[in-house]
Amino acid sequence: MYFNRKSETMARTELDRLKLRRLKAVAKRCYKVPFYRNAMKASGVRPEDIKNLEDIKKLPFTTKDDLRESAPFGMLAVKLDECIELHASSGTTGVPVTVCYTRNDIEVWSEVMARCLVMAGLTKKDIFQNPIPYGTFTGAFGFHYGAQKVGALVIPSGMGQSERQIQLMKYYGTTFISGVVSYAAHLGQVALNMGINPATDLKVRHGIFGSEMFTPGLKKKLAELWNMDVYDIYGLTEMCGPGVSTDCHLHDGLHLWEDHFLVECVDPKTGEEVEKEEYGEIVLTTLTKEGMPILRFRTHDLAFLYDVKRCGCGRTHIKHSQIKGRTDDMIIISGTNVFPGQIEHVLMQNDRVGLNYRIVIGKKGDMDKLAVEVESREKLGEQEKQELERKLQNELKLVLLLTPDVKILDPGAIPKDTIKAKRVIDNR
Ligand SMILES: [Zn+2]
Repeated sequence: MYFNRKSETMARTELDRLKLRRLKAVAKRCYKVPFYRNAMKASGVRPEDIKNLEDIKKLPFTTKDDLRESAPFGMLAVKLDECIELHASSGTTGVPVTVCYTRNDIEVWSEVMARCLVMAGLTKKDIFQNPIPYGTFTGAFGFHYGAQKVGALVIPSGMGQSERQIQLMKYYGTTFISGVVSYAAHLGQVALNMGINPATDLKVRHGIFGSEMFTPGLKKKLAELWNMDVYDIYGLTEMCGPGVSTDCHLHDGLHLWEDHFLVECVDPKTGEEVEKEEYGEIVLTTLTKEGMPILRFRTHDLAFLYDVKRCGCGRTHIKHSQIKGRTDDMIIISGTNVFPGQIEHVLMQNDRVGLNYRIVIGKKGDMDKLAVEVESREKLGEQEKQELERKLQNELKLVLLLTPDVKILDPGAIPKDTIKAKRVIDNR
Protein backbone atom coordinates (compact mmCIF):
# COMPACT_ATOMS: atom_id res chain seq x y z
CA MET A 1 0.00 0.00 0.00
CA TYR A 2 1.34 3.40 -0.99
CA PHE A 3 0.00 6.88 -0.46
CA ASN A 4 1.84 8.21 -3.50
CA ARG A 5 2.99 5.28 -5.61
CA LYS A 6 4.68 7.40 -8.26
CA SER A 7 6.93 9.24 -5.78
CA GLU A 8 7.54 6.32 -3.42
CA THR A 9 8.64 3.88 -6.14
CA MET A 10 10.37 6.37 -8.46
CA ALA A 11 13.39 4.91 -10.32
CA ARG A 12 16.69 5.79 -8.64
CA THR A 13 18.08 7.70 -11.63
CA GLU A 14 14.96 9.83 -11.82
CA LEU A 15 15.00 10.37 -8.05
CA ASP A 16 18.65 11.47 -8.13
CA ARG A 17 17.91 13.92 -10.94
CA LEU A 18 15.04 15.37 -8.93
CA LYS A 19 17.23 15.61 -5.81
CA LEU A 20 19.94 17.50 -7.70
CA ARG A 21 17.46 19.94 -9.21
CA ARG A 22 16.01 20.60 -5.77
CA LEU A 23 19.41 20.85 -4.08
CA LYS A 24 20.45 23.56 -6.54
CA ALA A 25 17.23 25.43 -5.85
CA VAL A 26 17.52 25.21 -2.06
CA ALA A 27 21.14 26.41 -2.13
CA LYS A 28 19.91 29.47 -4.06
CA ARG A 29 17.04 30.03 -1.62
CA CYS A 30 19.39 29.79 1.36
CA TYR A 31 21.76 32.31 -0.21
CA LYS A 32 19.09 34.93 0.51
CA VAL A 33 19.46 34.23 4.27
CA PRO A 34 22.28 36.32 5.81
CA PHE A 35 23.55 33.40 7.93
CA TYR A 36 23.98 31.13 4.89
CA ARG A 37 25.29 33.87 2.61
CA ASN A 38 28.04 34.63 5.16
CA ALA A 39 28.80 30.95 5.75
CA MET A 40 29.01 30.23 1.99
CA LYS A 41 31.19 33.26 1.39
CA ALA A 42 33.47 32.20 4.25
CA SER A 43 34.01 28.80 2.63
CA GLY A 44 34.28 30.27 -0.88
CA VAL A 45 31.25 28.54 -2.37
CA ARG A 46 28.36 29.92 -4.38
CA PRO A 47 25.02 28.26 -5.21
CA GLU A 48 26.16 27.87 -8.87
CA ASP A 49 29.01 25.62 -7.68
CA ILE A 50 26.51 22.81 -6.99
CA LYS A 51 26.84 20.72 -10.16
CA ASN A 52 26.21 17.20 -8.79
CA LEU A 53 24.92 15.61 -5.59
CA GLU A 54 28.44 15.12 -4.21
CA ASP A 55 28.85 18.90 -4.25
CA ILE A 56 26.62 19.10 -1.18
CA LYS A 57 29.84 18.56 0.77
CA LYS A 58 30.92 22.07 -0.26
CA LEU A 59 27.96 23.59 1.61
CA PRO A 60 28.22 24.60 5.29
CA PHE A 61 26.76 22.56 8.14
CA THR A 62 24.00 24.04 10.30
CA THR A 63 23.88 23.40 14.05
CA LYS A 64 21.12 23.89 16.59
CA ASP A 65 23.16 26.76 18.06
CA ASP A 66 23.16 28.52 14.66
CA LEU A 67 19.37 28.29 14.64
CA ARG A 68 19.11 29.52 18.23
CA GLU A 69 21.33 32.51 17.55
CA SER A 70 19.01 33.59 14.74
CA ALA A 71 15.79 32.80 16.63
CA PRO A 72 12.97 33.36 16.21
CA PHE A 73 12.79 34.58 12.58
CA GLY A 74 16.38 35.25 11.43
CA MET A 75 16.63 32.10 9.30
CA LEU A 76 13.51 32.74 7.22
CA ALA A 77 13.96 32.69 3.45
CA VAL A 78 10.56 34.29 2.83
CA LYS A 79 8.71 37.24 4.34
CA LEU A 80 7.02 36.44 7.63
CA ASP A 81 3.61 37.25 6.11
CA GLU A 82 4.01 34.34 3.68
CA CYS A 83 4.05 31.94 6.66
CA ILE A 84 0.83 30.51 8.09
CA GLU A 85 1.98 28.41 11.05
CA LEU A 86 4.90 28.14 13.42
CA HIS A 87 6.20 25.39 15.67
CA ALA A 88 9.02 25.28 18.15
CA SER A 89 11.19 22.62 19.72
CA SER A 90 10.57 22.00 23.41
CA GLY A 91 13.50 24.17 24.41
CA THR A 92 14.36 22.16 27.52
CA THR A 93 18.04 22.81 26.93
CA GLY A 94 17.90 26.51 26.03
CA VAL A 95 16.23 28.92 23.62
CA PRO A 96 13.63 27.04 21.56
CA VAL A 97 14.20 26.67 17.82
CA THR A 98 11.27 28.21 15.95
CA VAL A 99 10.32 27.02 12.46
CA CYS A 100 7.83 28.78 10.18
CA TYR A 101 5.78 27.05 7.48
CA THR A 102 4.37 28.51 4.28
CA ARG A 103 1.13 27.04 2.95
CA ASN A 104 3.17 24.80 0.68
CA ASP A 105 5.36 23.66 3.60
CA ILE A 106 2.24 22.51 5.44
CA GLU A 107 1.11 20.72 2.27
CA VAL A 108 4.47 18.91 1.96
CA TRP A 109 4.45 18.00 5.66
CA SER A 110 0.94 16.53 5.32
CA GLU A 111 2.07 14.57 2.24
CA VAL A 112 5.17 13.01 3.87
CA MET A 113 3.15 12.21 7.00
CA ALA A 114 0.44 10.59 4.88
CA ARG A 115 3.10 8.45 3.16
CA CYS A 116 4.49 7.38 6.57
CA LEU A 117 1.06 6.57 7.97
CA VAL A 118 -0.04 4.53 4.94
CA MET A 119 3.30 2.69 5.10
CA ALA A 120 2.40 1.83 8.71
CA GLY A 121 -0.97 0.47 7.56
CA LEU A 122 -3.35 3.45 7.90
CA THR A 123 -6.39 3.47 5.61
CA LYS A 124 -9.41 5.75 5.35
CA LYS A 125 -11.40 3.14 7.30
CA ASP A 126 -9.24 3.64 10.39
CA ILE A 127 -10.17 5.51 13.56
CA PHE A 128 -6.98 7.31 14.45
CA GLN A 129 -6.45 8.52 18.01
CA ASN A 130 -3.74 11.11 18.49
CA PRO A 131 -2.66 11.20 22.16
CA ILE A 132 -0.05 13.94 21.75
CA PRO A 133 -0.22 17.49 23.12
CA TYR A 134 -1.58 19.96 20.53
CA GLY A 135 0.57 23.06 20.78
CA THR A 136 3.85 24.44 19.53
CA PHE A 137 5.33 20.92 19.72
CA THR A 138 5.26 19.53 16.15
CA GLY A 139 4.02 16.01 16.91
CA ALA A 140 0.25 16.30 17.15
CA PHE A 141 -0.28 18.51 14.09
CA GLY A 142 1.93 16.39 11.85
CA PHE A 143 0.00 13.21 12.63
CA HIS A 144 -3.30 15.10 12.48
CA TYR A 145 -2.69 16.58 9.02
CA GLY A 146 -1.26 13.32 7.66
CA ALA A 147 -4.06 11.11 8.94
CA GLN A 148 -6.71 13.51 7.59
CA LYS A 149 -4.98 13.52 4.21
CA VAL A 150 -5.29 9.73 4.15
CA GLY A 151 -8.96 10.15 5.02
CA ALA A 152 -8.94 8.39 8.39
CA LEU A 153 -11.24 9.61 11.17
CA VAL A 154 -9.02 11.58 13.55
CA ILE A 155 -9.72 11.79 17.30
CA PRO A 156 -7.63 14.77 18.48
CA SER A 157 -7.47 13.49 22.05
CA GLY A 158 -4.31 15.38 23.03
CA MET A 159 -2.09 14.07 25.77
CA GLY A 160 -2.96 13.36 29.38
CA GLN A 161 -6.09 12.18 31.16
CA SER A 162 -4.98 8.63 30.57
CA GLU A 163 -8.15 6.92 31.76
CA ARG A 164 -10.17 9.12 29.40
CA GLN A 165 -7.85 8.12 26.53
CA ILE A 166 -8.72 4.48 27.20
CA GLN A 167 -12.44 5.29 27.48
CA LEU A 168 -12.29 7.10 24.11
CA MET A 169 -10.59 4.10 22.54
CA LYS A 170 -13.31 1.82 23.81
CA TYR A 171 -16.21 4.18 23.01
CA TYR A 172 -15.16 5.07 19.46
CA GLY A 173 -13.44 1.79 18.59
CA THR A 174 -10.00 3.31 17.94
CA THR A 175 -7.94 1.13 15.58
CA PHE A 176 -4.72 3.14 15.23
CA ILE A 177 -2.73 5.19 17.75
CA SER A 178 0.25 7.52 17.59
CA GLY A 179 2.50 9.26 20.07
CA VAL A 180 5.60 8.26 21.97
CA VAL A 181 6.46 4.76 23.08
CA SER A 182 6.68 5.55 26.79
CA TYR A 183 3.16 7.02 26.76
CA ALA A 184 1.75 4.04 24.85
CA ALA A 185 3.37 1.79 27.46
CA HIS A 186 1.84 3.91 30.21
CA LEU A 187 -1.60 3.83 28.57
CA GLY A 188 -1.40 0.04 28.32
CA GLN A 189 -0.75 -0.15 32.06
CA VAL A 190 -3.61 2.29 32.79
CA ALA A 191 -5.96 0.09 30.74
CA LEU A 192 -4.94 -3.00 32.70
CA ASN A 193 -5.55 -1.13 35.97
CA MET A 194 -9.05 -0.29 34.70
CA GLY A 195 -9.66 -4.00 34.07
CA ILE A 196 -9.37 -3.56 30.29
CA ASN A 197 -6.92 -5.77 28.45
CA PRO A 198 -5.59 -3.71 25.50
CA ALA A 199 -4.77 -6.87 23.55
CA THR A 200 -8.29 -8.32 23.67
CA ASP A 201 -10.73 -5.63 24.86
CA LEU A 202 -9.64 -2.80 22.53
CA LYS A 203 -9.49 -2.66 18.71
CA VAL A 204 -6.12 -0.87 18.41
CA ARG A 205 -3.99 -2.97 16.03
CA HIS A 206 -1.52 -0.40 14.69
CA GLY A 207 0.69 2.09 16.49
CA ILE A 208 3.21 4.56 15.15
CA PHE A 209 5.61 6.16 17.59
CA GLY A 210 8.41 8.66 17.40
CA SER A 211 10.44 11.20 19.27
CA GLU A 212 12.08 8.72 21.66
CA MET A 213 14.81 6.21 20.93
CA PHE A 214 13.54 2.67 21.53
CA THR A 215 15.22 -0.68 21.20
CA PRO A 216 13.73 -3.68 19.34
CA GLY A 217 13.19 -5.34 22.76
CA LEU A 218 10.93 -2.52 23.94
CA LYS A 219 9.12 -2.55 20.59
CA LYS A 220 8.38 -6.26 20.99
CA LYS A 221 7.03 -5.84 24.52
CA LEU A 222 4.77 -2.98 23.42
CA ALA A 223 3.50 -5.01 20.45
CA GLU A 224 2.59 -7.88 22.79
CA LEU A 225 0.93 -5.70 25.40
CA TRP A 226 -1.41 -4.15 22.81
CA ASN A 227 -1.48 -6.97 20.25
CA MET A 228 -0.55 -4.41 17.60
CA ASP A 229 1.95 -3.85 14.81
CA VAL A 230 4.40 -1.20 16.04
CA TYR A 231 6.02 1.30 13.64
CA ASP A 232 8.80 3.73 14.28
CA ILE A 233 8.61 7.26 12.83
CA TYR A 234 11.54 9.65 12.70
CA GLY A 235 11.60 13.40 12.35
CA LEU A 236 12.67 16.60 14.01
CA THR A 237 11.35 20.11 14.36
CA GLU A 238 14.12 21.52 12.16
CA MET A 239 12.99 19.42 9.15
CA CYS A 240 9.18 19.75 9.65
CA GLY A 241 8.46 17.58 12.67
CA PRO A 242 7.66 13.87 12.36
CA GLY A 243 7.46 12.55 8.79
CA VAL A 244 11.07 12.30 7.64
CA SER A 245 11.07 8.46 7.65
CA THR A 246 9.19 5.35 8.85
CA ASP A 247 9.72 1.59 8.65
CA CYS A 248 7.68 -0.40 6.11
CA HIS A 249 5.86 -3.66 6.97
CA LEU A 250 9.18 -5.56 6.66
CA HIS A 251 10.44 -3.69 9.76
CA ASP A 252 14.00 -3.62 8.48
CA GLY A 253 15.06 0.02 8.35
CA LEU A 254 13.16 3.30 7.92
CA HIS A 255 12.47 4.71 4.43
CA LEU A 256 13.49 8.36 4.25
CA TRP A 257 11.65 10.57 1.73
CA GLU A 258 14.56 11.60 -0.45
CA ASP A 259 12.52 13.84 -2.72
CA HIS A 260 12.06 16.17 0.28
CA PHE A 261 15.08 15.48 2.52
CA LEU A 262 18.65 14.83 1.51
CA VAL A 263 20.43 12.56 3.99
CA GLU A 264 24.12 12.15 4.73
CA CYS A 265 25.78 10.05 7.41
CA VAL A 266 29.01 11.50 8.84
CA ASP A 267 31.62 10.86 11.47
CA PRO A 268 30.44 13.04 14.39
CA LYS A 269 33.99 14.15 15.15
CA THR A 270 35.33 14.94 11.67
CA GLY A 271 32.13 15.65 9.70
CA GLU A 272 33.46 13.35 6.94
CA GLU A 273 31.10 10.87 5.25
CA VAL A 274 31.26 7.35 6.72
CA GLU A 275 31.08 4.12 4.67
CA LYS A 276 27.63 2.72 3.75
CA GLU A 277 26.17 0.58 6.59
CA GLU A 278 28.53 2.15 9.11
CA TYR A 279 27.15 4.05 12.09
CA GLY A 280 27.49 7.82 11.97
CA GLU A 281 25.58 11.03 12.65
CA ILE A 282 22.56 11.71 10.46
CA VAL A 283 22.82 15.05 8.61
CA LEU A 284 19.75 16.38 6.80
CA THR A 285 19.03 19.05 4.19
CA THR A 286 15.50 20.22 3.42
CA LEU A 287 14.98 20.04 -0.35
CA THR A 288 11.56 21.66 -0.66
CA LYS A 289 11.10 23.86 2.41
CA GLU A 290 10.19 27.45 1.55
CA GLY A 291 9.77 29.15 4.95
CA MET A 292 12.92 28.00 6.68
CA PRO A 293 15.12 25.85 4.45
CA ILE A 294 18.08 24.26 6.26
CA LEU A 295 21.35 23.02 4.80
CA ARG A 296 23.18 20.01 6.26
CA PHE A 297 21.62 20.04 9.74
CA ARG A 298 23.66 18.19 12.36
CA THR A 299 20.98 16.06 14.08
CA HIS A 300 23.27 14.33 16.63
CA ASP A 301 21.24 11.17 15.94
CA LEU A 302 23.28 8.02 15.39
CA ALA A 303 22.22 5.51 12.72
CA PHE A 304 23.52 3.94 9.51
CA LEU A 305 22.31 4.11 5.90
CA TYR A 306 21.41 0.84 4.14
CA ASP A 307 23.16 -0.10 0.95
CA VAL A 308 20.16 -1.52 -0.95
CA LYS A 309 18.67 -0.29 -4.21
CA ARG A 310 15.07 -1.41 -3.77
CA CYS A 311 13.26 -2.72 -0.71
CA GLY A 312 10.98 -5.76 -0.77
CA CYS A 313 8.06 -3.37 -0.29
CA GLY A 314 8.80 -1.79 -3.70
CA ARG A 315 9.90 1.59 -2.38
CA THR A 316 13.13 3.00 -3.78
CA HIS A 317 13.82 5.62 -1.11
CA ILE A 318 16.91 4.99 1.02
CA LYS A 319 16.57 3.28 4.42
CA HIS A 320 18.34 4.09 7.66
CA SER A 321 18.59 1.97 10.78
CA GLN A 322 16.65 2.73 13.94
CA ILE A 323 18.27 5.60 15.82
CA LYS A 324 20.77 3.97 18.18
CA GLY A 325 21.15 7.02 20.39
CA ARG A 326 22.44 10.56 20.24
CA THR A 327 26.01 11.73 20.08
CA ASP A 328 25.25 13.75 23.22
CA ASP A 329 23.37 11.17 25.32
CA MET A 330 26.45 9.30 26.47
CA ILE A 331 26.77 9.36 30.25
CA ILE A 332 30.21 9.24 31.83
CA ILE A 333 30.14 7.38 35.13
CA SER A 334 33.44 7.31 37.03
CA GLY A 335 35.29 7.49 33.72
CA THR A 336 33.24 4.76 32.00
CA ASN A 337 31.08 5.59 28.97
CA VAL A 338 27.48 4.39 29.26
CA PHE A 339 24.70 4.71 26.66
CA PRO A 340 21.08 4.47 27.90
CA GLY A 341 20.33 2.17 24.95
CA GLN A 342 22.74 -0.46 26.30
CA ILE A 343 20.78 -0.55 29.56
CA GLU A 344 17.39 -0.69 27.81
CA HIS A 345 18.64 -3.52 25.62
CA VAL A 346 19.54 -5.68 28.65
CA LEU A 347 16.33 -4.90 30.54
CA MET A 348 14.00 -5.63 27.63
CA GLN A 349 15.44 -9.13 27.07
CA ASN A 350 13.85 -10.23 30.35
CA ASP A 351 10.26 -11.51 30.29
CA ARG A 352 9.51 -10.43 33.86
CA VAL A 353 10.48 -6.82 33.16
CA GLY A 354 7.77 -4.28 32.19
CA LEU A 355 8.08 -1.38 29.76
CA ASN A 356 9.11 1.49 31.99
CA TYR A 357 12.51 2.21 33.51
CA ARG A 358 14.78 5.06 34.49
CA ILE A 359 18.44 5.58 35.13
CA VAL A 360 19.38 7.58 38.22
CA ILE A 361 22.92 8.87 38.68
CA GLY A 362 24.11 10.19 42.00
CA LYS A 363 27.15 10.44 44.23
CA LYS A 364 28.33 8.18 47.02
CA GLY A 365 31.17 10.09 48.66
CA ASP A 366 33.43 11.05 45.77
CA MET A 367 32.24 8.20 43.56
CA ASP A 368 29.53 8.32 40.89
CA LYS A 369 26.75 5.84 41.55
CA LEU A 370 24.54 4.38 38.84
CA ALA A 371 21.09 3.07 39.75
CA VAL A 372 18.60 1.45 37.39
CA GLU A 373 14.94 1.47 38.44
CA VAL A 374 12.64 -0.72 36.40
CA GLU A 375 9.00 -1.77 36.68
CA SER A 376 8.19 -5.46 36.67
CA ARG A 377 5.60 -6.74 34.22
CA GLU A 378 3.44 -8.08 37.04
CA LYS A 379 3.56 -7.33 40.76
CA LEU A 380 6.27 -9.50 42.37
CA GLY A 381 6.89 -10.66 45.94
CA GLU A 382 9.92 -9.42 47.88
CA GLN A 383 12.00 -12.53 47.25
CA GLU A 384 11.21 -12.58 43.52
CA LYS A 385 12.15 -8.90 43.33
CA GLN A 386 15.52 -9.54 44.96
CA GLU A 387 16.26 -12.45 42.62
CA LEU A 388 15.40 -10.39 39.57
CA GLU A 389 17.45 -7.44 40.85
CA ARG A 390 20.52 -9.68 41.25
CA LYS A 391 20.03 -11.25 37.82
CA LEU A 392 19.71 -7.90 36.03
CA GLN A 393 22.62 -6.47 38.00
CA ASN A 394 24.87 -9.30 36.79
CA GLU A 395 23.72 -8.94 33.19
CA LEU A 396 24.21 -5.15 33.21
CA LYS A 397 27.66 -5.54 34.79
CA LEU A 398 28.79 -7.67 31.82
CA VAL A 399 27.72 -5.02 29.31
CA LEU A 400 28.56 -1.81 31.17
CA LEU A 401 31.74 -2.97 32.94
CA LEU A 402 30.51 -1.38 36.16
CA THR A 403 28.04 -2.56 38.78
CA PRO A 404 24.77 -0.62 38.99
CA ASP A 405 22.23 -0.82 41.80
CA VAL A 406 19.05 -2.34 40.40
CA LYS A 407 15.66 -1.72 41.95
CA ILE A 408 12.50 -3.49 40.81
CA LEU A 409 9.37 -1.34 41.15
CA ASP A 410 5.70 -2.33 40.91
CA PRO A 411 3.97 -1.85 37.53
CA GLY A 412 3.00 1.82 37.05
CA ALA A 413 5.30 3.08 39.84
CA ILE A 414 7.37 5.40 37.64
CA PRO A 415 5.50 8.70 37.15
CA LYS A 416 4.66 9.77 33.58
CA ASP A 417 4.16 13.52 33.45
CA THR A 418 6.25 14.76 30.53
CA ILE A 419 5.79 14.32 26.76
CA LYS A 420 8.96 12.32 26.36
CA ALA A 421 9.98 9.85 29.05
CA LYS A 422 12.66 11.20 31.34
CA ARG A 423 14.89 8.13 31.20
CA VAL A 424 18.01 9.62 32.74
CA ILE A 425 18.02 11.57 36.00
CA ASP A 426 21.43 12.96 36.81
CA ASN A 427 21.62 14.18 40.40
CA ARG A 428 25.37 14.85 40.40
ZN1 LIG B 1 10.43 -1.16 2.45
